[in-house]
Amino acid sequence: YKQAPGTLRDAIDSGRTHGDRICVSYEDERYTFDAFFEAADRLANHLVSNCGVHRGDRVAIAMRNYPEWMMTFVAAVSIGAIVVPLNSWGKTEELCYGIQDSGSRIVVCDSQRLELIRDALPELDCKAILVRGGDAGDERVEPWSVSQQQAAKHPEVEISPGDLAIIMYTSGTTGKPKGAASTHFAVAQALYNFEFHAAQSAMANMPTIEKMLGSGFDSATLLAVPLFHVSGCYAIFLGNLRGGRKTCIMYKWDPARALEIIESERITVFTGVPTMTMALLEHPNFASTDTSSLFALGAGGTACPPHLTDLIYSKLPDAYPGTGYGMTETNATGSSCTGAAFRLRPNAAGNLSPIVEVRTVNENGEALPAGETGELYLRSPTNVQRYWNLPEASAATFIDGWVATGDIGHVDDLGFLYVVDRVKDMVIRGGENIYPVEVEGVLLTHPAVHEATVFGVPHQRWGEELMASVYLGEDVASEEELRTFLGEHLAAFKVPARILISSGELPKNATGKVLKKAIRDAYLAQS
Ligand code: ATP
Ligand code: MG
Repeated sequence: YKQAPGTLRDAIDSGRTHGDRICVSYEDERYTFDAFFEAADRLANHLVSNCGVHRGDRVAIAMRNYPEWMMTFVAAVSIGAIVVPLNSWGKTEELCYGIQDSGSRIVVCDSQRLELIRDALPELDCKAILVRGGDAGDERVEPWSVSQQQAAKHPEVEISPGDLAIIMYTSGTTGKPKGAASTHFAVAQALYNFEFHAAQSAMANMPTIEKMLGSGFDSATLLAVPLFHVSGCYAIFLGNLRGGRKTCIMYKWDPARALEIIESERITVFTGVPTMTMALLEHPNFASTDTSSLFALGAGGTACPPHLTDLIYSKLPDAYPGTGYGMTETNATGSSCTGAAFRLRPNAAGNLSPIVEVRTVNENGEALPAGETGELYLRSPTNVQRYWNLPEASAATFIDGWVATGDIGHVDDLGFLYVVDRVKDMVIRGGENIYPVEVEGVLLTHPAVHEATVFGVPHQRWGEELMASVYLGEDVASEEELRTFLGEHLAAFKVPARILISSGELPKNATGKVLKKAIRDAYLAQS
């Protein structure tokens, strides 16, 4: 085992060898790897020479998914700054909170974000650098349009593996997002680990081997999730940057547009949360789209409904399904599996990565015997160090090198990891534990149900009672019909007392996860 380079910058720099292959596409824009790195280097030079950024300074990014987002990320990492990707869905207050919380003196942004924060910047003692959009009058830094002769020299900054590289905010599914502060070393290890799994998966699935070894094969991933969370940033963007694969950016998720890009860019890999993958496969335009380039279709970030693998196999027999489990606090590392293994264990979140140790603990934090269900604790070199500015939450989550995940699960004797639900979401009704994820999975197998969420509400007699909210799209089903359907597949105590039929899609965060807490709070406020 060769010791892998220790900094994120080293890991990124290995992407410099891919020359004139296409690195990024966005609408009709194309950047080769050479052009991409040249732009990033010029921006790095600008940050050092004109903005006075030093090693350890925080540099915030406030941009939608644009090529410039990626260039800024690489520029900031290469000069030893700590990158702070802000949630670009955020409003003024949220963006300013991120700048203030991280103590960023520089924010690199697009024009829409600049408009939102412009007035607040002086008070935050922060300077904006506009790199995308804006009017002719705006001062915009466009390093990639500078001529070849003026190419910047890559600034030489000493970085050590233990330096912080990034403050990545969690998705904010259970509350306010937390900034996970990670070293260069931990992110770099996560990237090497993804690569290992990607190679292993490709070689374990026959259709891929045939496609990859065929002539004219080029890998291309559709980036349909935000760059400001781990899945888009690490697994897709940085993974492809190292591997020499093309990343095709979507500004925002839209299944019809995704199908167009899959056809025109010959996309080979698509990943998203399960609702996105299903929306793609079930879209009316799916049948008329040329999807023959696809060889891997993944879903993760939240529980996959058990019938998803069969759906993928039935719609795309030449592609393999994949899933994975991870979180911001482990730099997205945890478990993964693809193809036949996933089909045989559709309820599992994959096999544990070899660099990850797992244990389960009871409510008192005591370790449970192997195989028993409890809160999952993960330990690996990819674990982040702490939450930024949150000592109490850090102490509760980062315990003796372990991450207390807040998820409930177990590992079977073959090493498959099962994530049954979040600790916070478990419902105890009359002494019976109910995992809403299980009920959601069954609801989603009903042909009329497009989205479903199940949650507990206080109840005088049972302690908690189960509720559901579903979105049916154009389809029709009555509450009674859905309850009867659930009763045919689940014990009576797991059938929600009420199933509310939502007139619109369920509210989701930027990652695409359903905001169960918001739905529950709204229900409680009304009743
Ligand atoms: P926050 O921590 O702010 O509430 P979040 O936990 O959704 O948000 P992320 O770090 O993006 O933020 O997501 C990690 C979480 O997503 C995991 O802890 C787990 O609850 C869930 N998750 C990820 N992958 C899976 C999976 N395959 N199956 C079930 N749950 C998953
Ligand atoms: Mg979390």
